[in-house]
Amino acid sequence: MADGYKGHIDKLDVENYRTWSSKIKFLLTSKDLWNGVKDPVAHPAQSKKALSIIGLNVEDHHLGSIEECKPAKEAWDLLEKTYKSKTNARKMQLRQELHSLKMKSGEPVTMYVGRAKNLYRDLVATGVEMKPDELAWSVLAGLPKTFSILRTILEASESAISSVDAILPKLLVHEQGFEESPKEKGGGGSDSAVAYVAGQKGKEKVHGKDESRGKGPTSAIIGGSLVTLPGSANVMYVPGVAANLISVSKATEVASVLFKENGNCELEVDGEVVPVARKVKGVYVVNRAEKETCFLVKKPETAELWHRWLGHAGYENLAKMVQGDLVEGVGVKPSAFRALKTLVCEPCIMGKHTRLPESDSVSTEPLEVVHMDVCGPMPVASVGGSRYFATFLDDYSKLSVVVPMKQKSEVAKITEQVINRLELQTGKQLKLVRTDRGEKYVNKAFEDVFGGKGTVHEKTAPYSAQQNGSAEGLNRDLKEKTRAMLEDLGLAKELWAEAVVTANYTRNRTPVSAHGRTPWESFLQ
Ligand SMILES: [Zn+2]
Repeated sequence: MADGYKGHIDKLDVENYRTWSSKIKFLLTSKDLWNGVKDPVAHPAQSKKALSIIGLNVEDHHLGSIEECKPAKEAWDLLEKTYKSKTNARKMQLRQELHSLKMKSGEPVTMYVGRAKNLYRDLVATGVEMKPDELAWSVLAGLPKTFSILRTILEASESAISSVDAILPKLLVHEQGFEESPKEKGGGGSDSAVAYVAGQKGKEKVHGKDESRGKGPTSAIIGGSLVTLPGSANVMYVPGVAANLISVSKATEVASVLFKENGNCELEVDGEVVPVARKVKGVYVVNRAEKETCFLVKKPETAELWHRWLGHAGYENLAKMVQGDLVEGVGVKPSAFRALKTLVCEPCIMGKHTRLPESDSVSTEPLEVVHMDVCGPMPVASVGGSRYFATFLDDYSKLSVVVPMKQKSEVAKITEQVINRLELQTGKQLKLVRTDRGEKYVNKAFEDVFGGKGTVHEKTAPYSAQQNGSAEGLNRDLKEKTRAMLEDLGLAKELWAEAVVTANYTRNRTPVSAHGRTPWESFLQ
């Protein structure tokens, strides 16, 4: 400006009215123009100059209304009126924001405190008088549950909460503390954790006992590419962590960590570079977008795990399954299964797992003979309300179908559905059905379903288990597998229906027939 004014004044806006008006007042006073605003009649020339200075320091949208004001006082009062009311509304809004201040999930303490300080500054700018400890209390109130212990301690000694800057170091120490010892939250664990995994615990529980406690023999973290950290590597499940983290100091026990000049960080295991992380705002981030994978924890397959995954199937059967290449995707050698043949498996014993020799087939092709039986009532109703289950066993392939039922009377409808499906899948017609003579409802069902179809219904003599031995053997096998699975995972008995269907699913996919194939393969030959 002409007289050499070098100061800077931000243009008038809602947030800055208070500072803006003070600065303009100082500016006009320094130029001896303030009288033009106070008393435009006595000082018309100053009033004119003052008005132009005011006009130069507001946003464009104000120019119209200011130009209409002849004396500077009018313009000054107009702006004051507009912005005082706007400022009051803004004050209310800011106060509300401060009161409902909450630390977001995964938000670093520094960022959260930064947000709080900005609110404080804005409030002070609107003319609110706030003591520093008021802000500190608001910050404390917005902390998540993970800080509850620290909050209690701080609240107990009020003098500690003099300002945000006084409590910030304590918050930072606490934040670091729960990142470094996730056992508080993950439930037990070892100190050599390399990776902290965020996510759902349920999935891990199904497959193993100890993943959540970080005792898995080898852990792998995937981020962009598979990262296998051998030996002592551990994975820790931390419910409160929003992202998967790798502890660099722990990783150095099993890998080399190279910090490059270009800002990259490389993790090297056995001379092979596993993920490359790039420095983003002071944090090394593994770019997942480079390769489309998801974060997961992988536990190596073992013979024991396959035994459990497949409903506690016999080890010799599993060995045959791999040896004969009957299924794909099992990464365990037959010898590894055979080595465990004498292993004592507690759930197997609890389920009284007796492996019956499969009865010889009397038929030469699928659907020539189907054995059928109804089991129940079970000691407890299933989650879905079932107390019985119907079993169907194809004599040739040993393929079995299991359907839980609420009442025995459902058997006719279920039989019709199952037989129709099996006939459709093979293109063959069912020739003979063998049931226990004693079950009247079953006999009635068969008359209803097969009355006009020409399917022979053969009833075995009562109490002669051998004649319908196949069905009996299947039922016992399924019941035992079901008990073993529920026992193994510590699940409620009400889940028996889910377990029996699962047991049947795995049974059809493990070699149980004399044909050296899985039942499904024999059935769809
Ligand atoms: Zn077992």
